[in-house]
Amino acid sequence: MAWEGSTRRERLPKNWPALRARVLKRDGYVCQFVWRNERGRMEQCGKPATEVDHIRPGDDHSMENLRAACHACHQYKSSREGGSVGGQVVARMRRETNGRFRRTEQHPGLL
Ligand SMILES: [Zn+2]
Repeated sequence: MAWEGSTRRERLPKNWPALRARVLKRDGYVCQFVWRNERGRMEQCGKPATEVDHIRPGDDHSMENLRAACHACHQYKSSREGGSVGGQVVARMRRETNGRFRRTEQHPGLL
């Protein structure tokens, strides 16, 4: 079986599909990535997770080294590991974060 379209050199174990499903279930299908927002606070991504990330890249496929991730976070981390900068993803996440703060500042119950 060829891993076409993949540049990853990680050797995934034979039970990877089962392992991946276990990680997603454990993490509630929610992205576990944590980013620092513009106020300097750490904030969990929280988007629906469709992928599984190796916290420390390599051959450690233990549950402790795996976490659920959404496509954007996973891709951003992978692109950084590959040496390029995922600027578009960061810009998009900043906009989404701003929108969230605007909503909380204009609480409709106070009007
Ligand atoms: Zn995410």
